[in-house]
Amino acid sequence: MKNWKVVLILGFAVYAAAVGFYFGRGDIYSLPSGSAGTSIDPHTFMSEGEIGRAEVLSRIRSIVYFLQTPLQLVLLILLVGTAIRFRDRIEGWTRRYLLRTGLFVFLFLLVVYVLMLPFDYFMLRVERHYGVSNVSLGTWLVDHAKNLGIEWLTTTFVLLLVLALMKRSPRKWWLWLWTFSVPLLLFLQFIQPVIIEPLYNEFAPLRAGELKKELLHLASQAGIAADDVYEVNMSERTNQLNAYVSGIGSNARVVLWDTLLQKMDTREILVVMAHEMGHYAERHVFWGSGLGLVMSFGLLWGGSRIYEIAVRNWGRAKGLRGPRDMAGLPLLLAIVTLLTLAVTPINNAASRLMETRADSYAMKMTGDGQAGVSAFQKLAAANLSPVTQPALLQWFLGSHPTIEERIRYFGEFAAQKAR
Ligand SMILES: [Zn+2]
Repeated sequence: MKNWKVVLILGFAVYAAAVGFYFGRGDIYSLPSGSAGTSIDPHTFMSEGEIGRAEVLSRIRSIVYFLQTPLQLVLLILLVGTAIRFRDRIEGWTRRYLLRTGLFVFLFLLVVYVLMLPFDYFMLRVERHYGVSNVSLGTWLVDHAKNLGIEWLTTTFVLLLVLALMKRSPRKWWLWLWTFSVPLLLFLQFIQPVIIEPLYNEFAPLRAGELKKELLHLASQAGIAADDVYEVNMSERTNQLNAYVSGIGSNARVVLWDTLLQKMDTREILVVMAHEMGHYAERHVFWGSGLGLVMSFGLLWGGSRIYEIAVRNWGRAKGLRGPRDMAGLPLLLAIVTLLTLAVTPINNAASRLMETRADSYAMKMTGDGQAGVSAFQKLAAANLSPVTQPALLQWFLGSHPTIEERIRYFGEFAAQKAR
């Protein structure tokens, strides 16, 4: 039956044309009238060239995102036949269940990785061309190998768990999976900053120097031990600026990129740090995980139904032996991709809410609206970020309020304080 494949490919072509048309239009980054010359107008803190590059970069990133995600979905569905062939081949190699599953997952993920690699390579070239990335081809390849390794281990583990749960409880396996996902997710959050992140970059306690005294003061007000503040050497990889909070419990920490320490002055760094401390003090990693768990309850139920229906009405004819066939992995991954995409706007809305709270926490702690304004102007210039973007992009890619909204907030805070 080749018809559905033709429909799938034609449908994708029409969709791709629409995406190209939408992000090719001229006016999607324009600011409201009356903002010319104000602190949100990029012409007051970025060069004409930087503004142009920021918009082109954002257009390219958006087109790639909106093509790559659905393409991955289509690809996974098209790869069900390949997965079945892998399964048959591997069953001839070994009788050991664990080895079979591990080999199968590795081969399948490798194929998906290689097929999606051109997108990532294209983005590497683009980001290097625009000067936001310094990642060498070697580092990029090593990173992808590490990603593949981590995904191989986690996917094999989860697949084994899913297949075992399906065997024990053919109707309620999704509920059991959800129950196990609670400690699993918390465990992953816990080891993230001490095991996963150091695989990619070097972390060290902040060499604060002059900053140290003010930092200690700020940290103690937020109830954070100063040795939970780290810096990471991102300057080898990027010219962009960032800071974040990661980990839970005794591994919770604030991380500052060294690029940020190099390019911002003390007052600006303190605002950024106070923002991160807001995340830390209000335990946003914890709340984010909580939201994920609540949503995954519904998603796992819905996903399990979709999977069973897809296997029954379509997969069996393709050669799947039933829901408990490891060759169902591409279908499971396709459903995860689809449902993740569907809840991305919800996750981003929750994230923007926490970011807004962290911004106001930063103002409460430092009272320095001026430094907030200049920090985000520097951020926009260094990261080549347009100060605003269309709502569609905010829904799917906007984990933070726009830079326009943030500069506006800090500016109003400064003006109110001056009154
Ligand atoms: Zn934040």
